[in-house]
Amino acid sequence: MPRYEMQKTPSTTNHGTKANPRMSAADFVAGLDEGSHSSIGSYPRFLLMADGEVLCIECAIKERELIAEAAGEPGPWNNEQWTPVAYAANWEDPNLYCAHCEERIESAYAES
Ligand SMILES: [Zn+2]
Repeated sequence: MPRYEMQKTPSTTNHGTKANPRMSAADFVAGLDEGSHSSIGSYPRFLLMADGEVLCIECAIKERELIAEAAGEPGPWNNEQWTPVAYAANWEDPNLYCAHCEERIESAYAES
């Protein structure tokens, strides 16, 4: 038996990213080095969490120990709020806010 089944309809967040699988603590820490904008193309980056919320890179850096600890833990997720899933780029969501500091996360194309 697999430890868990993939849902028939993949669960997606409103950012269009599958909230599965989680990333390792090493991937999380390595990704922090890139900063708030991607090294290629300089796109605004954010961190997608297991509970579907997003964190800005500044908060990810501030809370890195908490997040690194929650990263890659075996399920069930009991600390989803701090479990990182993936780094992503905000292409065109003008209403993307960090769940922690509530700052708006800049978008690549939707700025006016
Ligand atoms: Zn933040």
